[in-house]
Parts: sequence; C-alpha cells; structure tokens
Amino acid sequence: MNISEILENYSVEIATLENHYNWVKTNAREINLETEMHLVSKLDQIMHYFSDLYKFVGVSSNNIYWNLTETPIRVMLIPVAQRRYQTIINPEYIELAGKEIDNVEACGSVPDNNNYVIKRKPYVLISGYTLERKYTELEYGSKDYDAGEYPELSSYHHREWIIQHEMDHLYGTTIKDMGILFDFNSLIQ
Ligand SMILES: [Zn+2]
Repeated sequence: MNISEILENYSVEIATLENHYNWVKTNAREINLETEMHLVSKLDQIMHYFSDLYKFVGVSSNNIYWNLTETPIRVMLIPVAQRRYQTIINPEYIELAGKEIDNVEACGSVPDNNNYVIKRKPYVLISGYTLERKYTELEYGSKDYDAGEYPELSSYHHREWIIQHEMDHLYGTTIKDMGILFDFNSLIQ
C-alpha cells in the first residue's frame, strides 16, 4: 500500500488539540511486537511522510490521527544521529538527569502555533525496539550540562529535548499542559 492509499484508507491527518483532542491527550498503548508490527510499519511510513512535508524534528503517534486503532500506539520517530531518524517502538525512560533548563518549543499538535517555555533535562537515556524488533538503548545530551537561566530561543533542535517532547506526547501531554506561554516581547528591553 503506498502512502496516498494509506492516508485515504485510514482517515489519516495531523491530530491537534482542536480536531482530535482526546487522541492527543490519550496515553498511547504498547505495541505487541509479535502480532502488531503491521500497524507500526504503516505508521512508520506516515510519520516519515509528515516529517518530510512539515519539517518536523520529531513525531509521535499522538500527533497522527488514524482510524486503524482506537488509541495512539507507543511509537515515535526521533533523531538518532546527525541527519538520521529512526522509528522506536514502546520507548521507555531509563534515566533523565542533570540540571533543568528552560527551553522554547512549538508543536504541530498545538494549533495556535505559539511557543512555550518548557523545563527540560539535559541528559536522556531511553530504551525501545527498532522496526526489526531489536532491543535498543539511546543516549542523548550530557549530565554535566550547565543550565542557563534564560530560555534558549529556537533550541528545540537539541536532540535530548526532542526526545522528551515526543515522550510527553506518548503520555498524552503537550507543551501547552506543562509550559508557560512564551512572550517574544519579553526579549525586547
Ligand atoms: Zn509536539
């Protein structure tokens, strides 16, 4: 099945707090690696498609509505190395560490397109499974990161913050729930 058939057959669209509130706010359910890989491979195609189209830096299944499952599944497309992305199944935190820093983020599922200041950790270690159903651990950032007091503008490209943003989505949490609306005027003195 090609991508346009998938999009049409399964009513696929970007899920936002406006058009699919419950979908975005639902805790994504785990995937059965023995019986449900057909769902993952379709979602993998869809996530790559939207990621290319909208230049997303990361995507979770809570960002993508479809009618194939009742709730989002525990899958996310995240950066794993410079310019390389990988789909990770059933991701879990092993460790979140370091001094929190304020980070400015936007989100494709928050329709007003506003920026929010979010507290992020500088070090992330997660586990999960690849499309080949192979167990993997991925490490990002640094425990020694010396956090600043002011938000770092446009800093959402830091991979350790992208991982936390997408993991939040899988728990049904958006930057609107946990952040403070960022006022660009506050930068002008
Ligand atoms: Zn988001």
